[in-house]
Amino acid sequence: MFHQLGTKLSCGSISLTFGTDSDADEEALFCDGMNHIYKATNAFVKFVKRTNETNFLVIKRDNFCGAFVGVEKGFNILQMNSKCMNNATILHELYHVLGFEHEHSRSHRDEYVTILYENICPGYIIYYLSY
Ligand SMILES: [Zn+2]
Repeated sequence: MFHQLGTKLSCGSISLTFGTDSDADEEALFCDGMNHIYKATNAFVKFVKRTNETNFLVIKRDNFCGAFVGVEKGFNILQMNSKCMNNATILHELYHVLGFEHEHSRSHRDEYVTILYENICPGYIIYYLSY
């Protein structure tokens, strides 16, 4: 997950496109995840194939898996590779696209938990920032 100070998607349809290097099996996995969200939100959030919308999601292969939180400047890129191409990770990243942060990064988390920074490996503290 990447943090980006963008606007959260408010509701409705999310236009998306797959990168040219995706295959049918991967797209089917994403469709399962999108259908899960569609049902879980009582049809409030629906993913649709992009036509000419200016706000959209691009799903493409990369060396790592992640997505920005929300949308800024009209688009978000969800990056995946074969190592994390599974239902759980796909849902995780799709929820980031919808604007969900990690629970341990929420702005009020310090009211409920204490982060022991001395136990975090150098270079990973960025994942424990709160927003
Ligand atoms: Zn994440």
